[in-house]
Amino acid sequence: MKRAYLCTLSMMLVIAFVVSLANPSFAEQKKIQAKKGNVICLEVDKEGKIIAKEEYTVCNGLLVFIGMDSKLYSLHGSKEKLQRIEKSPKRRMGYRTPLKVRGKVEGHQRALHLDISSLEPKESQKLEEKIIQGTIVCLIPYYDKGNVKPVVSRAPCNEHEPHAHIIYTGEGEVYALHGSEETIANIEKSSERRNVFLKGKILGNQKGWILFVD
Ligand SMILES: [Zn+2]
Repeated sequence: MKRAYLCTLSMMLVIAFVVSLANPSFAEQKKIQAKKGNVICLEVDKEGKIIAKEEYTVCNGLLVFIGMDSKLYSLHGSKEKLQRIEKSPKRRMGYRTPLKVRGKVEGHQRALHLDISSLEPKESQKLEEKIIQGTIVCLIPYYDKGNVKPVVSRAPCNEHEPHAHIIYTGEGEVYALHGSEETIANIEKSSERRNVFLKGKILGNQKGWILFVD
C-alpha cells in the first residue's frame, strides 16, 4: 500500500515537472522583475518644449520610470495598466509615494525599457516602419530626487555617462528611442538634435511609443 502511494506520488512529480517545462510562460516568468521608483510624465508644452511632470492624472506623452536601482526606464504596457499608473496618487501627506511595478526589463544602459504587460506583437501583426522627424532629447536623471531633466544637447553626448533618449515631433508625439547600443551610441556622436529624421520600427500604443532604430 505504501509502495503504491510512493509510486503515485513520484509519477505526479514527474508529470508536474514535464508540464512546467512544456509551459512557455515558465521560462518567461523568470525575467519578470519587481521595481520601486517614481513615474514621470514627459510631455510637449504649448511652446513646443519638452517638460518633465511629477504631478499628472493624464500624460500626453511618455511615462518614464526612475527606479530606486538608479536606472531610468521608458515605461510600456497595456493602455489600461498605464492609465492606472497615470491616475495613481503621486503624493500622500505631502510626500512623494514611490510606485511598485512588475515587468520585464529589456535593452541596455543607453536605452532601457520596462514592459509591465507584454508588448510583443502578435505574429500576424507586422511592425510598422516609419520615419520620425523631430528633436532628440537626452534624459539626464536625478535619481536621488526621482526626477529627470530633459536636455536638447548642442554637442555629441556619447562621452557623458550612458543615458536614455527620446525624440519628439512638432505634433507633440513623444517616442522612447531604442535600438542596439551601437546604434544609439552613433546617434549620440552627432550634434544634430533638431529637425532630425530617424527611421525605425514603431512599437507600443498611445500610452507610450517606442522608436526602434536599426
Ligand atoms: Zn544624450
